[in-house]
Amino acid sequence: MTEHVQTAWLAAYAAQDELSRGRRFVEQLPAYRSEFQRDRDRIIHSTAFRRLVYKTQVFVNQEGDLYRTRLTHSLEVAQIARTIARALHLNETLTEAICLAHDLGHTPFGHAGQDALNECMRDYGGFEHNLQSLRIVDELEERYAEFNGLNLCFETREGILKHCSLRNAQQLGEVGERFIRREQPSLEAQVANLADEIAYNNHDLDDGLRAGLISMDDARESASFRSQHDTVMQAHPALTGRRLVNEIVRRLINQVVTDVVETSRHAIEQVAPADINAVRSHSKPLVQLSSVMSQHHLELKRFLRERVYRHYRVLRMTNKAQQVVKTLFGAFMQSPELMPPEHQQAVTRFSAEMGEAGRARAVADYIAGMTDRYAVLEHERIFDPAKRS
Ligand code: MG
Repeated sequence: MTEHVQTAWLAAYAAQDELSRGRRFVEQLPAYRSEFQRDRDRIIHSTAFRRLVYKTQVFVNQEGDLYRTRLTHSLEVAQIARTIARALHLNETLTEAICLAHDLGHTPFGHAGQDALNECMRDYGGFEHNLQSLRIVDELEERYAEFNGLNLCFETREGILKHCSLRNAQQLGEVGERFIRREQPSLEAQVANLADEIAYNNHDLDDGLRAGLISMDDARESASFRSQHDTVMQAHPALTGRRLVNEIVRRLINQVVTDVVETSRHAIEQVAPADINAVRSHSKPLVQLSSVMSQHHLELKRFLRERVYRHYRVLRMTNKAQQVVKTLFGAFMQSPELMPPEHQQAVTRFSAEMGEAGRARAVADYIAGMTDRYAVLEHERIFDPAKRS
């Protein structure tokens, strides 16, 4: 599809190249791509994107090859979001770019790693993976001669910054303003946000079953799972194993995606935003679930929290992961000279500006960038006398 045709096909309230608030550093227009295609491509070529393959979603990478990682999670989010975006005549390419970038700032070991790093950073401004994703695309990627980061369009950055404290928002300039004014992001960002939740709800359920943390009977405690399980059993009474799980999970995803499209389409029609700015100034998000589906969605989330994320086998992993992150942080804070040279240089640069908080930020950037296995290896190299340094 050429850009011309795609633009004609976009709804008035979609993000459009011509109405973009632009990049921080002005660049020549791409010859054969739209601005948001260029953003998506820059994200795919980034170092942080490649690292996602070895970062945990819920299960640590070495536990098995078939579990979701941050990379496959991001791809599933993008797939779900693109379906919704296209059905609502939104900018599919921008939606995809936001989805692929949304978890770039994740630490090793999933939420356990992020919580541990946040605790370490408590006296130095905290650590938040969402803010770190923005920091990566704005500052940390080193790919261009003329600027730090990827120099993405405002709309992509706006979508990456899903949530933000008021204190942080005040330091972020244009991209933080909506949190101060209590405005919404683009519909593309709203789609990416909800697609993230839909993706992890369903794949964590799937991975939980695969890992044997929950049984089919356990999963039937969730009303939406139970109803899809019944539907599949009626059509295929002899079906068992992975095929049964897959038939249920694909129906769950299809049901919630259909609901988002229909509910959001209705909400958008009611408000009839004239353009992206009308979307931004509307009092609440227009991409939404129906109240019935929202109940199902929250119920499944609660089920996963209690039965999967707090399963003793997951908690053991969580506990180990937190130890690794905390001990690495302590060691590097005390002796920054143990870090590779480029990270020592960051310590020098950031300390000149912010003192001890600057040193902590450089250490946090180094640790946050690690993959699961790199963090484990680094831990061994520093604390295990038998290991080569
Ligand atoms: Mg995510």
